Amino acid sequence: MLLQVALNKDSARQAEKIDARRRRYILSFVSYITSVVMFIYGFKNLGGEVALLPLILFGTGATFLINISYFRWSGNLNLACNIEAVLVGFFVLALVYQGGFNNTALYWVFPFPAILFGLLGVKKALLSNALLLVVLGVMLFIPDIIMADYKEAEASRFIASLLIVIIVCWINDHYRERSHEAMDLLQQSKEVQANTDPLTLLLNRRFIDSSLNINLQQQADAFLPMAVIICDIDHFKQLNDQHGHAAGDAVLRHLANLFRRNLRQQDIACRIGGEEFLFFLPKTSADDAMLVAEKIRQALLDQPLQHGKLALPVTASFGVAGCHDSNSLAAAIEHADKQLYLAKHSGRNLVC
Ligand code: GH3
Ligand code: MG
Ligand code: MG
Repeated sequence: MLLQVALNKDSARQAEKIDARRRRYILSFVSYITSVVMFIYGFKNLGGEVALLPLILFGTGATFLINISYFRWSGNLNLACNIEAVLVGFFVLALVYQGGFNNTALYWVFPFPAILFGLLGVKKALLSNALLLVVLGVMLFIPDIIMADYKEAEASRFIASLLIVIIVCWINDHYRERSHEAMDLLQQSKEVQANTDPLTLLLNRRFIDSSLNINLQQQADAFLPMAVIICDIDHFKQLNDQHGHAAGDAVLRHLANLFRRNLRQQDIACRIGGEEFLFFLPKTSADDAMLVAEKIRQALLDQPLQHGKLALPVTASFGVAGCHDSNSLAAAIEHADKQLYLAKHSGRNLVC
């Protein structure tokens, strides 16, 4: 149903927001910290033997700042994270190629697997880390192609420890994602449970108070004009008294199935009391809702519950009202209740 989907989406949206915040923090932290470090080391290395080093440092620092400014301006988190990952990769390769101050470039590589996982998510991060590892391996084991001069023992230990860091980050992030998914599902099922009547599996009153009102305010166009139908079983106490509470429960479940069959997918059926039900029909006039209520009333008569050899016929009375304004849901329900009262007092088994 429309609203049940909205209910699930609500918690998913919340989780997405928190995850986006995590990526935003990583993006900002890496951008600002890296560019500050780059500029400090750039100045320190100005006028040194190797002219390329300050150039790499200033260039990368400035590009990190441009990227975070682009993100602040456009709000495009995915693109900014992708650009950041490319910058990070480029910086690492350039630094390892050049060797850094006193050949210390390899130390700076270690934070980057974790940064890539933070920016890109598990799959893309694993791929880019693997690519980085292969390229670094080629650079270190074919030393002729790079400027820097690393010892052979240093290269093999570096690649091995970087591989360990990548694998640990991968395991960590993979299971972090999995546990988030599991928690999301749990949260969704808890929300569905809290809003569902356990006997009939229809939505309950809590759903109307907590979700329907909010959804109606937020997406008024998707609902209005909306019809409200209240349905109350006639003389249900008698049925309980004659056939027992269990038979009464079976009738309630049978009715709920009947409602589901006779309502559209986007309609909302709630059990709001013992033998009272509320239906919300989005994009429906009160006149059309009268026809729907009449169809349900007739279906109750035509399809009584078979209880053993016994048929348990029930009738119900209906009150119908229209809701044309997102702020007048309570008034519409009250109006439908008055119409129900009228149906009861006009002889029951009626739609008013
Ligand atoms: P009316 O036509 O005026 O609505 O009469 P009624 O007997 O249906 O109304 P009343 O409010 O007097 O009684 C409602 C009955 O519904 C009382 C209670 O035993 C029964 N009931 C409420 N909840 C449940 C339930 O979960 N299961 C069963 N089997 N019966 C229930
Ligand atoms: Mg009743
Ligand atoms: Mg009642």
